Amino acid sequence: MTVASAPSGQYIIEAGWVLAYNAGASHLLAGGSVRIEDDRIAEISAGRMPGDLPRISVPGQLLMPGLISGHTHVASGTPTRGIIEGGRSFSRPIKLMDRLSDEELDDLTAFNLAEILKAGCTTQVEMSLSLRQAESYARVAGVWGARGFPGGMIPGTSRLDAIWFRDDDQALFDSVPDTLAEIEANFEFGQKLMGDFDGRLMPMMAPHATDTHTDETMSAIIAAANTLGTGIQIHLSQRETETEAVRKLQNGLSPTQWLDKLGGFEGPFLGAHMKALDWSTDPAILKRHGAVFAHCPSAGGAGGATQPYPEALAAGIATNIAIDTHSNDLIENIKLAVLGGRVRARLLDGPAVKLPTIWDAVDGATVVAADGLRRPDLGRICAGAKADFITVDLSDWLVGAGTLPPEPLNNLLYANGGMVRHVAVDGRFLVYDRQLTTANEGDVFERGAVVHRKLWKQLSDEQWFTPTPR
Ligand SMILES: [Zn+2]
Repeated sequence: MTVASAPSGQYIIEAGWVLAYNAGASHLLAGGSVRIEDDRIAEISAGRMPGDLPRISVPGQLLMPGLISGHTHVASGTPTRGIIEGGRSFSRPIKLMDRLSDEELDDLTAFNLAEILKAGCTTQVEMSLSLRQAESYARVAGVWGARGFPGGMIPGTSRLDAIWFRDDDQALFDSVPDTLAEIEANFEFGQKLMGDFDGRLMPMMAPHATDTHTDETMSAIIAAANTLGTGIQIHLSQRETETEAVRKLQNGLSPTQWLDKLGGFEGPFLGAHMKALDWSTDPAILKRHGAVFAHCPSAGGAGGATQPYPEALAAGIATNIAIDTHSNDLIENIKLAVLGGRVRARLLDGPAVKLPTIWDAVDGATVVAADGLRRPDLGRICAGAKADFITVDLSDWLVGAGTLPPEPLNNLLYANGGMVRHVAVDGRFLVYDRQLTTANEGDVFERGAVVHRKLWKQLSDEQWFTPTPR
């Protein structure tokens, strides 16, 4: 039978294409069927499966692994979207978020997480910009059933600027006691949350970057991460000033070399941006430890700077595609990674770059990220893996051709998150036929709007919008 509402427990999905995983690689399977048993993928077959289990038939769609963003700041996506692209700093709007009540913060988290899920990202490696935002993420993502690896950024936003944009390193040294207190508070949050919601929430330690830490504070984070066992997420060499600041403080070591010296790559490691990596020394270290580069093509807002995706691919660094902030649409970000990466590679034109393909980007947002997290049960459609999957309509207007396309991954280059139809985590549908099943979508939308209006009114009262950049 074909079901009109979301099935659960045991069911079969018959898709036009299935992006399956076997023998260590992704393969496209035409007319594939996938049988789900509770939270696991039980069986994949090239044809139709017999039996009378409930089944979903999506003949014009691609079934693929749920997407994994190796770097997000969930609550902070929308408060700055559309107001920072002209070149303003996101610092003030983000700071205003500290004044929100827990309920308002949850409304922002819910609005953003709804977008993220509806666009096909089932797993977030979540660097919340404060511990309060991490708690908010855990409340919303936990109840909704998303999969997440949350941690509060250290230092959090209320203390960050004075340390990050210091004129004198004394400000960094003076920050140590308060940063150690933040590390302890985040570690306690992690210990309390560990494995909650049937193991879907696995907290990580999240240092902001290498230039806002000393030997003492980074070592404390590494020790906490090793105890939690889930690893570290960080902004790594995100700009030249970071790399220079670390070289000055650490006898010429690059940020990656310094982290290696401290033992920072023992567990899973995801580093965002890597714009100012030392390409002569750092790739070998990252590769040796299986560290992942979380490439965020819309970091800094739409139209921000390009980033070293073609260089990372050429160097053989495991590279994920991630959301960061502003665009919560991971399919759009996959597209941007390929298109922007190809432009960058052609302009740089040399042996140190590889032209990114859609296969690189899709693997990056699925199996590569899962392997980096040391979770071979995630990011792939194969028997025994967690039933985290999405379906994407690749036959519809503007993306397809009214019928199933012959090379469907290429059609993702014309798609966006609006083409995602079903989203499941642990076999449970969080989005069914484009609609959020875990909350009333209209309420999430309206409640988010109220908080956005409040933040923007405050900015307007402070004359933050004047003059308007053109
Ligand atoms: Zn970030």
